[in-house]
Amino acid sequence: MDVIKSAIVNNEFIPFLQPLIESKSGKLVGCEVLLRWNYKNSVIIHPDEFISFIEINAMIIEITKGIMYQVECAFKDIVYKISESFTIGFNISATHCNDMDIVNDCCFFLSAIDSEYIHLNLEITEREYLQHTTVSQQVFNGLHDLGVTLSIDDFGTGYSNLIYLQDFNFDIIKIDKKFVKYVGINNTSDDIISCVVSLAEHLKLKTVAEGVETNIQADRMRELNVDYLQGYLYGHPLPLNSFIDTWFYN
Ligand code: C2E
Ligand code: CA
Ligand code: CA
Repeated sequence: MDVIKSAIVNNEFIPFLQPLIESKSGKLVGCEVLLRWNYKNSVIIHPDEFISFIEINAMIIEITKGIMYQVECAFKDIVYKISESFTIGFNISATHCNDMDIVNDCCFFLSAIDSEYIHLNLEITEREYLQHTTVSQQVFNGLHDLGVTLSIDDFGTGYSNLIYLQDFNFDIIKIDKKFVKYVGINNTSDDIISCVVSLAEHLKLKTVAEGVETNIQADRMRELNVDYLQGYLYGHPLPLNSFIDTWFYN
């Protein structure tokens, strides 16, 4: 615990950003913020190695606030370069959805950036149990009132809770890289993605495919009518300033 507390104090938790691409046009339309632990400012550690530990110890809310603030400061400085809709997506742990504070954090984030073009999206993984409570419903309603959209992440890989789609008004389904990896190789993956897209279309939700690494996968996603694409084909997650240099100054 002490090591996490001192990492927070030393600003060792930092955001990496990965581009989000509109599948039909191939245009950059946003990014996903992915947490990294810059341990002792010398080793970059991925979240899978520490996230469950900080979630158990309820430090994740504080860390998320910290990375939101870093992203807010950087985008405030380049807002004059953004003249088309651009969505910034944060991963939020299920515990955060039962805390009204997230609504205030999003409100501050949007008012600090103060741009009609910047949209906020929160991604909630299906791998964690998301309790449907009065507070979580208020959180979802409050976020929607602010214009914040909500994605169900890792769809189909967790407890496959279709009930989430019924209980919570999500806006986007994220198709996990485990399915994307086998498109064109394994017919079952194609069929699953096709069914998820059809489900999304019926529910008037958008779809994002993550883990797109090849042109073959990207083409197949377009054929299957997936709305947005993300993956190494378009860009690896980059430190905040490198992302801004790459995508806004080149
Ligand atoms: P995720 O949200 O499903 O994020 C996608 C993961 O796939 C990321 O791993 C990303 O770096 C990686 N990825 C992106 N494109 C490709 C690709 O083309 N091929 C492959 N093989 N992988 C790709 P990362 O950054 O290590 O994050 C792992 C997980 O940690 C995330 O999965 C998310 O569930 C969680 N996470 C990340 N940042 C946060 C955060 O700020 N808060 C919370 N609560 N969870 C986070
Ligand atoms: Ca995610
Ligand atoms: Ca995923």
